[in-house]
Parts: sequence; structure tokens; C-alpha cells
Amino acid sequence: MDDYASDTDSDYTSYWRDWFISSRGNEYFCEIDEDYLTDRFNLTGLNTEVHYYQYALDLVTDVFDMEVDDNMREQIENSARQLYGLVHARYIVTTRGLAKMMEKYKQGVFGKCPRVICESQHLLPMGQHDIAKSSNVKLYCARCEDIYNPKSSRHNTIDGAFFGTSFHNILFQVYPTLLPKKTQRRYEPRIYGFRVHASAALMRWQEERREEMKDRLRIQNMETGFEDEDEGDDDIESEEDEEDEGRDGIDDMFEGRMQPVQ
Ligand SMILES: [Zn+2]
Repeated sequence: MDDYASDTDSDYTSYWRDWFISSRGNEYFCEIDEDYLTDRFNLTGLNTEVHYYQYALDLVTDVFDMEVDDNMREQIENSARQLYGLVHARYIVTTRGLAKMMEKYKQGVFGKCPRVICESQHLLPMGQHDIAKSSNVKLYCARCEDIYNPKSSRHNTIDGAFFGTSFHNILFQVYPTLLPKKTQRRYEPRIYGFRVHASAALMRWQEERREEMKDRLRIQNMETGFEDEDEGDDDIESEEDEEDEGRDGIDDMFEGRMQPVQ
């Protein structure tokens, strides 16, 4: 790692990037193409955001060959990481960048959704801000449409701006087939088998609204976007009816404290 900067041999044109990409904790990053990095247009505005911008750029593109002391080298190294991250946010919304990130997404490099009902849905990295040093990277689940903190502390410290607020949404617009079907399944709070009254009432109200929305969409001949249209609904209902009927005895025991939902 110490001698990469002095090595300007053309055989090692992506030496710094190779090292960066393969470093532990940098798994979320893809390799930015040489021609993208060397096109000044793509770097517009970054010279004011990154200290030692020119040195950092030289380092990233493997043309840095100045003798500097350790302290200076460390500062340039930090700037190079910052520069790479900010260019990365721009690169991953290009056709080439999207394709590279899509491959990583398919392989599950960014991890899986911790929500049980999402059934190990693969996640995508994202930022809550596009401005550097505002917040750390989060992971987006397209199934539950929620965001999570990365599990590992070495990913938790990555700047969210290195991925940006739009990339994960653009990816699904460009590759719509990767978008998981919406599911109607969700966790129902129960106490000894009985649905907790307040949440059950809220769920029923939400389900009614959803059914109304689906009816409106069907009238317009539009896809509702939910998986297992309606079939799932009936199954769930009949299952619950049977269950409730079979527990009348317990029902009496808890009378006044809990209201099982019919
Ligand atoms: Zn999820």
C-alpha cells in the first residue's frame, strides 16, 4: 500500500482504484472507468469540495509521483478517497455505472433486508443527502420500501453522498424487472393467538382502503402491482376464522381484557 503512489508504470494504470475497491469495507463501491475519471466535465465543481484536489486526482489516476512526508501523504490519501466517493455518486447513475452496480446488487453484495416478511430481499446502498458529510450510507429495500443501517461498522462510516439520494430509484427505473412485487403480507401482533385489537382495527381499515384503491385501478385497467392478487386474502381470512372459532374457550377467559377480532 505504501509504494502505490510512486508506481507510474503503465501496466498498473488502475493500481490505486484496484487497491481501493478491494480494501476491506469498500465492497459497496464499483470501479470507476478510467475515461470517466479523466474527463474533466465529470469532475465539475469537485475542486472546491476536495482539499488537495489535483494531488488527489493524480493519486486516483496513478500519476502522482511527488515525494511528500507521511502527514501530507495521509491528507492526500483522505482527499483521494473523498474525491473517489464523490465521483462515484455521479458515475453510478451513468449507463456503465448502473450496470456494474446492478451486478453487485444481484450478487447480494449490499446485504439482505432484515425484515422477515421481505424474505432476504437484496438491498441497495443509498444516501439521505447529496452533500458530503451530512449522513452515512443507508441500505434500501425495494420490497418494504424502507431504509436500514448497514450491519457492519466498517460500512456504517461510509458517507451517504458517495451513493446519493437518487441512484437506487434510477436503478429500478432503468431495470424495472428487478423491482420486487409488492406484498400484502405483514406481521400481525397477537397475544395468545388473538390479534391485538387496536392494531387489528387499524390493519383492517388499511386493508379496506387498499382494496378500494385496487378496485379503482382495475376500473382504469391498471396493474395494482401486488403479488398473488386476492387469492392470498381469502386464504388469510378463512384461516383466521377457523382459528378464532377453535378458541372460544380462551376467548371467554380473556373477556374484558382483549377483544379478538372476528
Ligand atoms: Zn424489506
